[in-house]
Parts: sequence; structure tokens; C-alpha cells
Amino acid sequence: MITVKTTNELLKMRKAGQITGGALKAAGNAIHEGMSTYDLDRVVHDYIVSHGARPSFLHYNGFPASACISVNDTVIHGIPSKTEKLKKGDIVSIDVGAYIDGYHGDSARTFAVGEISKEAEALMESTEGSLMAAIAYARPGLRIGDLSSLIQEYNEARGYSVVRQFVGHGVGQQLHEDPEVPNFGRAGHGPRLVPGMVIAIEPMINQGAAQIKVLPDGWTVKTADGKLSAHFEHTVAITPSGAQILTLAD
Ligand code: MG
Ligand code: MG
Repeated sequence: MITVKTTNELLKMRKAGQITGGALKAAGNAIHEGMSTYDLDRVVHDYIVSHGARPSFLHYNGFPASACISVNDTVIHGIPSKTEKLKKGDIVSIDVGAYIDGYHGDSARTFAVGEISKEAEALMESTEGSLMAAIAYARPGLRIGDLSSLIQEYNEARGYSVVRQFVGHGVGQQLHEDPEVPNFGRAGHGPRLVPGMVIAIEPMINQGAAQIKVLPDGWTVKTADGKLSAHFEHTVAITPSGAQILTLAD
């Protein structure tokens, strides 16, 4: 069931979103060569807790950390680790959720560790570009498939492929609500966007083939071909005049 949020609910969601965005920004500022993904997770955890919220991901379906931290060929759901140290040239996707006053925020961003290859930079630009283009396009009356096809075409036109097994989603009192928001699909299909709908749009884009594999830990999702993957996500509210990003830091 797709829930439509009231103005009062959207205010609460903006607060959850701001803390989510702030945690992601704090993590980005903290990233440096030699840092463990465990220590990066602590930055996210401490930011969320010190702002009176709860990390949405901690213990979610048994996930053991506050952030998903996914390096290079890890697409999503990377588990932070004391032994995984960031190296110059890595790209690191950080996915964060914060829960406060009964509502969640959900946002992700891929960061560079020092200087990265032109290829990695182009992948990140395409992934983020498709997210921002979908947000700029979103408005009441369009359908989810209009956003899905935009994201797919944007990235495929640049030679990248779209992960199929994981998709964006509604956000609210639950971290994952209806509707699903795929990063591929046909324009003119799917649920219609209406004011008060809140969705997380989150392209997961691979440098090589779309295929992924899940590691035996049950969480870590990697590209099957070992090539890079990037992930950008914002929680946005559909308003009469377009989509408003709820997960900005300030
Ligand atoms: Mg997320
Ligand atoms: Mg999400």
C-alpha cells in the first residue's frame, strides 16, 4: 500500500532526512586513505545518535552496523570491517538511514578516496547525474516508470548497466514501503506520482555488466565481473510543484 504523507508527517520526515544527510556528509568529510570501513561506520553512528536519532540499518533484518559501506566492486550492503582499509583510488559507497519521531530518512553517496581514475569518476558522475535528473523530472501526474526509464536510458547511453535485483522504494514509518522504484523500466507504466508520496530514488549503476552476486555472508552484493559500481540515493517528497529532496545535510 502506498501511503501519502500529511504536511505534519513531511516535517518529521524532513528532520529524519536532515540527520541522514548530515551523517552522510560527516562520513564524506572523514574519509581518508588508511581508514577502516569500521571507523567510517562509527562516524555515521555517532552523528546519528548525537542528533537524537537511531540508525535505521542497525539490526535491520540482522544487519550488524549503522551504515552499509561498499568499496569498488561492492554494489551495496557492504558490512563495515576493522580489517578493510580504504586505499587511494578506491570509490566507496556509503548508505545511511536515520529514524526519529517515527519516520526514516534514507540516502547514499559514492565518495572518492583521494585521486581516482577518470573511469571511476565518469561512473560516479553518470550515477549521480541520473539521480538528479530523475528528481528534477519528478512531479505529480507522472508515473514511477517515467523515472525508471529516465535513469535506465541516462546510464545506458553512457555505456553503463543498471542493477536489476535491487530497487528504490517508498519511505515513511517503515524504511522500505511501497511503491518499488526500479532503475529500469518503461515510461508511462507503474503507480502515478501524487503529492505527499515519499520515495527513495537510488540508482545502482555498474561499470561493466548488470549481473551481481551475493557473498556467503548473506549481505555483501558485488558485481559478478569484478568491475566498479556506484550508488547515489535521496529520499524525496512529491509536492504539487515537483520533488523536494528531504535528505540534504542543511
Ligand atoms: Mg539507502
Ligand atoms: Mg533505500
